[in-house]
This record gives sequence, structure tokens and C-alpha cells, in this order.
Amino acid sequence: MVRGSRLLRYLWAAPYTLAGLLLGAVAMLCGASARRHHGVLEICGGHIGKRMARVPQPFGFSAMTLGHVILAVDRSALAQLRLHEHVHVRQYERWGPLFLPAYALSSLLQLLRGRNPYRENHFERQAYAAVAARRRTARESSSSHG
Ligand SMILES: [Zn+2]
Repeated sequence: MVRGSRLLRYLWAAPYTLAGLLLGAVAMLCGASARRHHGVLEICGGHIGKRMARVPQPFGFSAMTLGHVILAVDRSALAQLRLHEHVHVRQYERWGPLFLPAYALSSLLQLLRGRNPYRENHFERQAYAAVAARRRTARESSSSHG
């Protein structure tokens, strides 16, 4: 990718990234740690993470993405969900400020059809499919070498 379009993708997702940075800053004040991974700031752990990990489904979450910031309850959740959350980063880059309205609309449509608003959400299905495809390729290439 050319440098200019990379900058544009960051700018396009910036409103959500800012929200992610604010939440991330609060999390870090409560002991979370941060690192950069493929141009994305990953923040995990701390007291808030511990609390969030105890919230029962469907209200709790293990990780969430806001623009170029991924917030995870702990390191293992981050490792497990990293691929999935990075697909969401790409979606933020594509949709920019329209991402959350589009995401909510997709959930609403599924709800109106009597389906699971999370699992059947267009963006989640895309993320789960991308991870499944990536794992399949990884398996195939490791078995062809083994
Ligand atoms: Zn997701």
C-alpha cells in the first residue's frame, strides 16, 4: 500500500480510534499494558479487564476493537481473538465513521429476522470467516511441511 492511502485509512477510522485511546488510557491508569502490533495499539489486562472478564454473556466481552485500538480483558483473550479483532480494524478502515451505524443496522436486521444479532451480524460473520480461512491455510501449509 502507498503511504498516502495508509494515512487516509488511519484518518478515516480516527473518530473511533480516539474513543479507543480514551478508554485505553483509563484502562492503563488501572494497570493495563499496551503494545503495538501491525499498526494497531493493543491494550489488555489491568483491573478493568479483570472486572470485564467476570461479566456474564451477553453483556460481557473478551475483546473489542475501536478503530486502530484493540481492548482485551487479558493477554490470553488477546492472543485468542487477535486475528478476529484485526479483521474489525480492516472494517473500520473501510467504513470509517459509518462503521458503528452499519454494524448496528446489521444487528437490527438480524434481530428483526429472528436471528442472533451478534453471530449473524454481517461484520462478525466476515471476521469469523476470515479467521476460519486463515486457520485452514495455516493447517494446510503446516501439514504439507510435516
Ligand atoms: Zn467481532
